[in-house]
Amino acid sequence: MAPEGSGNIRELKNFIGGEFVASGKTFENTTPVDGTLLSHVHEATQDMVDQAVAAARKAYKEVWGKMPVEERCKILYAVADGIDARSEEFIEAETMDTGKPRSLASHVDIPRGAANFRVFADLIKSVGTEAYQQDTPDGAGAINYSVRQPHGVVGVISPWNLPLLLSTWKLAPAMSSGNAVILKPSEETPTTATMLAEVMKEAGMPDGAFNVVHGFGPNSAGEFMTTHKGIDAITFTGETTTGGAIMRAASENVKALSFELGGKNPSIVFADADFDAAIEGTVRSVFANCGQVCLCSERVYVERPIFDRFVSTLKEKAEAMKLGRPEDPDTQMGPLISHEHRDKVKGYYDLAKELGAEVITGGGIPEFGDERDGGAFVEPTIFTGLGEDSRIQKEEIFGPVCHITPFDTEEEAVAMANDTEYGLASTVWTTNLARAHRVAQGMEAGINWVNCWFLRDLRTPFGGMGLSGFGREGGQHALNFYSEQKNICIKL
Ligand code: NAD
Repeated sequence: MAPEGSGNIRELKNFIGGEFVASGKTFENTTPVDGTLLSHVHEATQDMVDQAVAAARKAYKEVWGKMPVEERCKILYAVADGIDARSEEFIEAETMDTGKPRSLASHVDIPRGAANFRVFADLIKSVGTEAYQQDTPDGAGAINYSVRQPHGVVGVISPWNLPLLLSTWKLAPAMSSGNAVILKPSEETPTTATMLAEVMKEAGMPDGAFNVVHGFGPNSAGEFMTTHKGIDAITFTGETTTGGAIMRAASENVKALSFELGGKNPSIVFADADFDAAIEGTVRSVFANCGQVCLCSERVYVERPIFDRFVSTLKEKAEAMKLGRPEDPDTQMGPLISHEHRDKVKGYYDLAKELGAEVITGGGIPEFGDERDGGAFVEPTIFTGLGEDSRIQKEEIFGPVCHITPFDTEEEAVAMANDTEYGLASTVWTTNLARAHRVAQGMEAGINWVNCWFLRDLRTPFGGMGLSGFGREGGQHALNFYSEQKNICIKL
């Protein structure tokens, strides 16, 4: 079943209290592959967000929050199965909304999006709490133990780069913990969230436990959620400046907040690294998803003895990369998310040139001579020659681009890598065991890789420091955010 619409153009409605609801005010969703119109999306009004909050509160109080864990988990497994059963449709929708290669959506976005529901359904069944024995002056003692309680209604605001995957990364722990949720997907990628609503309904999710509202940030669904008295917690992934705006909006009602924000991630390559592995890893960490992964490396530091060879090999790999349509099995890189984002990325390419960077490769917009010219493609790009204080080294670009800087000592590399206000991820390439531990532990970032990138055990803490946000997702860390822990003290 495809979301309603005429012909190939879908109509995407809000999902409130178990029903699909039109608002009458729609915006257009186009694909960045060639600019074709995909759908008309119903933008939620303040009234509709109010209705979603009321439906969520009711579902939380009367059904979902009270349901035995085993029963709740059965529904979450059914949701995962429902995504798998329609995985072809989900892959198609995600690739058209984002432009990402089908190979990526079919290996990462959609299967991992489904898996999140299974992982957190399993975890909630085994997660424990704390207990302490306490001495008291009368010698009788006391015991303390804590219990988990859901927040109630959780607002999930998600970005466009991994739409289903990053939404379910929040929805699954929030819902398995017993919260009712309201999801606002990015206005750029509204389709899979709407399909997820269909899957939820078919899986037997109680009405109101899962809601979707469509729209933008300021003066739209995003802001209506962050300022809403009836939403107890907001979990957000997106840009750092948006995080600041949400924090201000949510402060009035003192909501619990979890923020996964931007990054300006370093990758350090030592001369003793396995050269081929470091090149392969850097190709992925710079160009995966057209550089639109918060964990991508935009600053690469290479030890001087291998600097020239590294730069020329990475250039070869970047130039061999096949840019194309998602469904073409040879495609390695798709377009950026939108023309607006391409203007931003191209602006940084132009700035780098103005600042005197050496353009190793790329720096422009490719010409195909076919309908892709109506899309939002940019060239994979490598710069060298800029100082560490340049805006190119300081600001998140979020495109298929890196700047490579040579270094002479470990101390110098660590100091340059940490010279950022962000603190999301880092990567170190070396075969020296002691150095691997020393440098990885010295990184001022939440997620640190040695001789790999994007390898994720879903139980581990995931999150950033500084401008990259606060709070940790993943495993028990996520369950801790999505529940209040209450202490019970019993005097013996
Ligand atoms: P964005 O901040 O523009 O938008 C994210 C979401 O916030 C969208 O749903 C948007 O509609 C909503 N929004 C915007 N303004 C709002 C407001 N004032 N109030 C409420 N909601 C508002 O981010 P994006 O462009 O969609 O995503 C790219 C950014 O996300 C990059 O900076 C990237 O680094 C970051 N990101 C971080 C992580 C992480 O785990 N740290 C993961 C993925 C992406």
